[in-house]
Order: sequence, then C-alpha cells, then structure tokens
Amino acid sequence: MNSKSSSAGPTFSFEIFPPNTQVGAEKIITTLGALQGLSPDFISVTCSGDKTKIEQTTIKLADYVANQLHIPAVAHLPAAYLDKPQVARILQKLEAAGVTRILALRGDIDPAVAPKNDFHYADDLVRFIKKCAPHFEVSGACYPEVHPESFNQLSDIRFLKQKTAAGCKHLTTQLFFDNEIFFDFEERCRLAEINVPVLAGVMPITNRKQALRLIKTSAAKLPRKFTAILDRYEHDPAALRDAGIAYAVDQIADLVTQGVAGVHLYTMNNAETARTIFNATRSLFRACQNEPAPQVLFA
Ligand code: FAD
Repeated sequence: MNSKSSSAGPTFSFEIFPPNTQVGAEKIITTLGALQGLSPDFISVTCSGDKTKIEQTTIKLADYVANQLHIPAVAHLPAAYLDKPQVARILQKLEAAGVTRILALRGDIDPAVAPKNDFHYADDLVRFIKKCAPHFEVSGACYPEVHPESFNQLSDIRFLKQKTAAGCKHLTTQLFFDNEIFFDFEERCRLAEINVPVLAGVMPITNRKQALRLIKTSAAKLPRKFTAILDRYEHDPAALRDAGIAYAVDQIADLVTQGVAGVHLYTMNNAETARTIFNATRSLFRACQNEPAPQVLFA
C-alpha cells in the first residue's frame, strides 16, 4: 500500500466486494473501469462467505485490479475458519497473481460453527504472513467505537498494539459517522504508541435499504444530523442519496483538513457515488500534498 506520510498528503482509496451474481459480475467490470479513472492509491477487495473459495472471488478480483487496471490491490483475508496450510496456499496464489498486500483479519465468528484453531485473532495471522512471506505488506482493521466483543476500550487498544507490533503497517477503521469519535480514537492510538497510519473508513449512505441494514447491524453511533437525513428523506430516494453523499463529503472534508492519514471509501460497488465524492473533495487532497498536518491552535 502506498502509505503516504501526512507530509505526502492523505491517501484516497476504495473498498469493493466480489459480486455473487452474474449481473453483478458483469457490472463490476464497468464499475472498476470508472474507479480506475479516479486513480485511487489502492483498491481493497473484501472476502465474505466461504473463505476456501477466495481464489475465485477475492483473489480473482484483486488480480484484475492489479494487473488489468494497474492499481495497487489489497486482498482482505479473514482467517478464523482457515488453517495454516490453507493460508499458506492462499499466500502462494496471491503471490502468483502479483498481489502482495493483505488486510489481515480474524473475521466474524458464527456462534453455530466452531472456528479452526490456527488463527484465534488477527495478530496470529499477521505473524504467520510475516513469517511465510516477509515481503508482503500487511494491514489490519480497527474500531474507533470499540470492537463489539471487546471487554473495554483499554483492552481493545492493547490488542491493537499487539497487532501492529506483529507487523501491520497501517490500520483501516470500521465505518463511523461522527468524526470526533475518530479523532479521539487516533489520540488513544498515539497515547498507546501505535504509530502506524490510521485510514478512516467512510461509508456514504445512499439508499433506504442500506440505511435500515446499517441501523440494525452497526454499532456506529448515529449523530442527530445523520438520523435527521434518514427520517426526512426516507421516502425520497434522490434526496436521500444527495443528502447521504453530502454527509460523506462533509466528513471527508473535515478529516482531510484535520490531517487524516487517508480516507478509505466503502463504495458498495457504486462508482457513480465514488466519483461524485471524489470530485467534491479532490482539491482538498491535492492541497494537503507536501503540507505538514495542521497544528491545533484552539483546543
Ligand atoms: P481481531 O483484531 O482479532 O479482534 C477481534 C476481537 O478480539 C476484538 O474484540 C479484539 O479486541 C480482541 N482481541 C484481539 N487480539 C486478542 C488477543 N490476543 N486476546 C484476546 N482478545 C483479542 N470481515 C470479513 O469477513 N470480510 C472482510 O472482507 C472484512 N473486511 C473488513 C474491513 C475493515 C476495514 C474492517 C474494520 C472490518 C472488516 N471485516 C471483514 C470485519 C471483521 O472481520 C470483524 O469485525 C471481526 O469480528 C474482527 O476481525 P479483526 O481482524 O478486527 O479481529
């Protein structure tokens, strides 16, 4: 990953997911073509469902991003349900595809299915990758609003430090809608001497179905300004989309202005939304190149 330091300006990157329908598979090529035009610093490819099929899903798409679009690709690798020989094979496949950047994850645990015993937590995976393939660039996930399984904020940060000490070069956050929560989290990282760049995960909410799913499943705090949008434009798709994009643009403008290391946009495979947000914020990213992060004058 092109982990620019703050003096080189913040990175701007996208997350996509492998489609699981034929229509989606055809659409993703168009989507990626449109994203290519935005020259992101990298594109990350998620991995869900049956992880043993990663070769036909995540790796295939990451291969396309890296070798057809010539954009650095990051493959997500959740390992709780994989064993060491399986991960070693996946690393070989990634290497063969020329994709040597990984977001190392434990992954969610299904209470009805026992995980395998090799990777209890993401740091076990980070260590394993660094041992088998030291030249791979490994990043990790982090949770400004604390991972739902954590005992508390302190233990979450302690384990995060363990994960970065194992070899993560950068971290990407779970989505959040209140930037203050992100800035507080960054501060906790610095106090704990977690000194790797933290990329802010931003998800534009552009439709009602997505909003309802988010409210049901996400632990993210929803500020009043945000829920007002959902309430007001619930039955007006165009207005909800515009307001959702405006909210994300506002979040990104604040993050970039206050010196974030990078913004990782959860695109939901929607190139049009990504393009609108990119166009509305690109001058800010450009303005921050070769500029030191701002000093806080008024606390
Ligand atoms: P870990 O870092 O292992 O942390 C999990 C929990 O265990 C935390 O509560 C942590 O505090 C605790 N913990 C960590 N280490 C220890 C230890 N040594 N001892 C005791 N407790 C410990 N999921 C997917 O399935 N596919 C994806 O593509 C995907 N992409 C993601 C991308 C991002 C940017 C993020 C933020 C999440 C993503 N996820 C994805 C979700 C992720 O898999 C889940 O949140 C999962 O529950 C935790 O994975 P992790 O790697 O963060 O776990």
